Amino acid sequence: MPDSVITKAHKPPTPFMAQYLEIKARHEDALLFFRMGDFYELFFEDAKDAAAILDITLTARGEHEGEPIPMAGVPYHAAENYLARLIKAGRRVAVCEQTETPEEAKKRGSKAVVNRDIVRIITPGTLTEDTLLPARSGQSLAAVHALASGEAAIALADVATGRFEVFPTMVTDVLTELAARSVGEVLVSDTASGAALASEINQTLGHAVTYRPKRTASADGGEAALQEVFEVSAIDALGDFTRPELSAVALLIDYLRLTQAGDEARLDRPVRSLKTGELAIDPATRSSLEIQETLSGERKGSLVETVDRTLTPAGARLLASRLSRPSADRVAITARHDAVGWGLEDRGLRDTLRTVLRQVPDLARARTRLVLKRGGPRDLAAIGSALAAGEAITAHVARNAIHAPALIESALTTLTLTEQPVLSQLVGDLRRAIVETPPLLARDGGFIAAGWNAALDETRALKDDSRKIIAGLQAKYADQTGISGLKIKFNNVLGYFIEVPSRHGDELMRAPHSETFIHRQTLAKVVRFSTEELSALAGKISRADEAAQAMEMEAFNAFTARVEAQSEALSACADALAELDVALGLAEWADEVGAMRPTLVEEPVFHAEHLRHPVVEAALKKTGAGFTANDLALDAEGTSGPRLLLVTGPNMAGKSTYLRAGALAVILAQAGSFVPARSLTLGVVDRVFSRVGAADDLARGRSTFMVEMVETATILSQATPQSFVILDEVGRGTSTFDGLAIAWAAVEHLHDTNGCRAIFATHYHELTDVAARLKSGANASLKARDWNGELIFLHEVQPGPADRSYGVQVARLAGLPKRAVSRAKQILEQLEAGGGTRGELPLFAASVPEPTSPSESDPVRDLLNETDPDDLSPREALALLYTLKASADS
Ligand code: ATP
Repeated sequence: MPDSVITKAHKPPTPFMAQYLEIKARHEDALLFFRMGDFYELFFEDAKDAAAILDITLTARGEHEGEPIPMAGVPYHAAENYLARLIKAGRRVAVCEQTETPEEAKKRGSKAVVNRDIVRIITPGTLTEDTLLPARSGQSLAAVHALASGEAAIALADVATGRFEVFPTMVTDVLTELAARSVGEVLVSDTASGAALASEINQTLGHAVTYRPKRTASADGGEAALQEVFEVSAIDALGDFTRPELSAVALLIDYLRLTQAGDEARLDRPVRSLKTGELAIDPATRSSLEIQETLSGERKGSLVETVDRTLTPAGARLLASRLSRPSADRVAITARHDAVGWGLEDRGLRDTLRTVLRQVPDLARARTRLVLKRGGPRDLAAIGSALAAGEAITAHVARNAIHAPALIESALTTLTLTEQPVLSQLVGDLRRAIVETPPLLARDGGFIAAGWNAALDETRALKDDSRKIIAGLQAKYADQTGISGLKIKFNNVLGYFIEVPSRHGDELMRAPHSETFIHRQTLAKVVRFSTEELSALAGKISRADEAAQAMEMEAFNAFTARVEAQSEALSACADALAELDVALGLAEWADEVGAMRPTLVEEPVFHAEHLRHPVVEAALKKTGAGFTANDLALDAEGTSGPRLLLVTGPNMAGKSTYLRAGALAVILAQAGSFVPARSLTLGVVDRVFSRVGAADDLARGRSTFMVEMVETATILSQATPQSFVILDEVGRGTSTFDGLAIAWAAVEHLHDTNGCRAIFATHYHELTDVAARLKSGANASLKARDWNGELIFLHEVQPGPADRSYGVQVARLAGLPKRAVSRAKQILEQLEAGGGTRGELPLFAASVPEPTSPSESDPVRDLLNETDPDDLSPREALALLYTLKASADS
C-alpha cells in the first residue's frame, strides 16, 4: 500500500479535550473563555485570534489529531479588561466556568474532569459591567422584525438598566428609529428582509448585527415569552401588541436567554413609545447636525457634549436620549422648560442640589447587576447612597418650602421615602449594614459593618480572640523552650505553625519538648512544628472564618432579594434622580452661556433674535474669539415674513453655521432645553431635515451625487408645513447646469409644495432671483468685506443676496499659489465680461486665452519699463536688483 493512503491513526482526544470540543461546538461564532483554575484559557483558532487582538502570548498544550493545540490565556482577575478589548474588536465571548470544585470531581473518580458549562455569552448589546460600558451613554440590544408589507417593529432592551421598549414602525423608518437610540447590537431574523435590513443597518449606522434563526422571531413565541418573563397569564396587561412587535420581542428574549445561558431575562415592564409626539430626525440629519457625535465619530464637539452639564451617568444618558429624540408634544416640552427655568431661577438652590447629585452613583445599573446575580457589595452601597441622596434633596426642598413645577414635583415625590416604608427601611438597613468602602466581590467578605448581625460580630470576636490567644501562645512557647526566636506564623499550605531557627530544631524534637511539638517541615534555615493546642485554635479560627463568610453571603443574598423585590420602585427613583440632574444641568448650561427659554406657539414660525450656534460658539470661546449672533425669522404661510430663506455669501463666511444654528435651536428647544438666543418663538416642528451637498460631504466618504439626491428626494417627499429644513449646497455634486437646475427645482418644491420652514445655502447666485420671485421667499447673505485685496468675514447676516461670490479671494486665503490665483481672476473677468455665468460657460468649448497684458498692474514690469540700464552705475544696478526682488516677493 503506498504511503500516501495510509491514514495516520490519531489518539482520541483526552476527556478534557473532548469536554472542550463539545462545549465549543455549541458556540462556534464566539471566542470560548474556558475556565481552568485562575485562568480563562482559549484554544485552537480562538487562541490565535485572541493572542493577536490582545497581544498576549500564544503557547501550546498537548496534541490534537497529531498537531500541537494552540493555547492562550488571561488571568481570571483581569478578565474584564481583556473582554472589553475583544468586544471592542467586534467579537463575542462565551464564558465557560467550572460548575463544581476539583474535590467534587475527584469523588467521581480520580481521572474525572471537572464539570464545566457556559454561564454567559458576552456581546456588545448584553453588557452590564461598568468597565465594559460607556458611563454616559447606553448600549442597548435591539431586535428588528420586518414584514414584506413594509410593517416592522423594534424591541429594545438596555440590559444594564433593565429598560425595555417595544414599538411598531415601518421598514422605511427602522434606521431613523435605531439612530435615535443608543444601540450596541441589532438582532434580525435570518430571512431575506432581515438580510436587507442588516446590511443597511450595518452600513449606515455601523452597528454590530447578529442574525438569529427565523423560528426565533414568531409572534406566538413573543406572547409566550412576555407571559413567562412578566409572570402574567395574558399579555393584555402589558399592552396591545401588533404581531410584528411580538415577533421582535420573541427575537429579543430568545437571544437574552441564550446569552444569559438559560437564565430568565430581567427586564422592566415594556414601555411602548409610540412615534407620535416625537420630533423625527433621520440618520443623515442626525449625523450632519452632529447631535450625539461629530462626523469623525467623537462625542467631543457634538451637541450633546457641548450642553451636557449633568453630574450623574444616568442624567447624562437621559440628556443624550432627550437630545436624540426631542419631543413634538407642546405640553411635554413646556413641562421640561418649566423644570429648567426652576433650576435657573435660584442659583443657590441649584448649587446645593448639584452638590448632592455629584455623589449619586449609577443606581439603575447597580440594581440590574444585583438582580442578574452579577452584583457585589459596592452595588448595594450604591443603591443605599443614591436613595439617601434622593432623601437629602427632597428634605432640602421641603424644609425650605420651595415650590417646584410638575416634572420636578413628581420626581421629588418619587424620591420621598416617607411614603414608601419598604424602600425607606431598605435604605436605613443598607446604611447600617454596609461598610463605607466595601470590596467589589461578595466572596472577599468584610463588607458587613459591625453591629448589623450579632452572630457575625460574635464570630468575628472569636476570630480576633483566637488571634490574641495565638500571640499569647507564642510567648508561652518561647518561655517554655527558652528559644526567643520562636514564632507562630501562617501560610496557605500548613496553616498556623511554630517556626524556630534550624539550630533549635533538634532540641524541640527531643524529650521533653517532643511531647508537645510535632515536627512538620525542615527547611534550610528553619524548622517548623505544630502542637495540638495550636491546631485546635487554628481549627477554631478557620471555622469562624467560614462561618463569618457564610453569614456575610447570607446577608448579601437577603439584601439582593430585597432589591429585586423593589426593582420597579428603584427604577423609578433612578429615573427621578436623572430627571433632576438633567433639569439642573440644562439650567447650569443656560446660565453659563446665557441661553433663554423658547416661547412655543401654534403657528409654524421660527423667530430668533441674536441666535448663536452652541458648538461653534464654545469652540471659538476656547480661542478667545467671539461669536457673532444673528437674527433668523421664518414665518407661517400668509404672513409677512419669508418662509424660505436663501442664503448666499463667500465660502467660510458662516452660511453653514447660520443654517445649523437654526436647526440646533429647534432640537434644543424641543428636547426641553433653553436656546442660545436672546429670544426664540417657535411653532413646534414635526420633522427636522438637514442635508449637506456632496461637495461638503467628502469627509464621510459617501460623497456620491446619488446619495445627495436620494437624501434630497426624501426631504422633498416627506417635509410637511410643520417641518424645518436646512439644505446646504445641494446640487454641487454634478455639473454646474445640472446642479443649478436641481437646486432651483428643490427651492421651488420646498416653497410651493412642502410649505415648510426652510433655509437654503447656495453658491448659485442665479438662485437669488428665484428666491426673490417666490411669494414667501427671501434672500439673505453673509457680509464680507474686501479690504485692500484681503477678505474680511464679518459673519453678519444681512437681507438681500450677496453682491458677488468672493471665491477667488477665499482661494487666495487658503494659500492657492499666486500664479493660480491671478489666472483665476483673469478667467473670472473673462467670464463676467461674457455675460455672466448664465451665458454658456466656455469651460470645455474653448480655453480662455491668457491675456497678453495682465489686467493687474505689475510693479516689477512697471519698474523695468521705467529703467534704462545704460543710466545705471554698478551700485545702482545692484540696488535695483534688490528692489525688483523685494517687489517680486511681496
Ligand atoms: P462654506 O461655503 O465653505 O461651507 P460657510 O459659509 O458655510 O462656508 P461656515 O462653515 O459656516 O462657512 O463657517 C466657517 C467658519 O467661520 C466657522 O468654522 C467659524 O469658525 C466661523 N464662523 C461662522 N459663523 C460665525 C459667527 N456667526 N461668528 C463667528 N464666527 C463664525
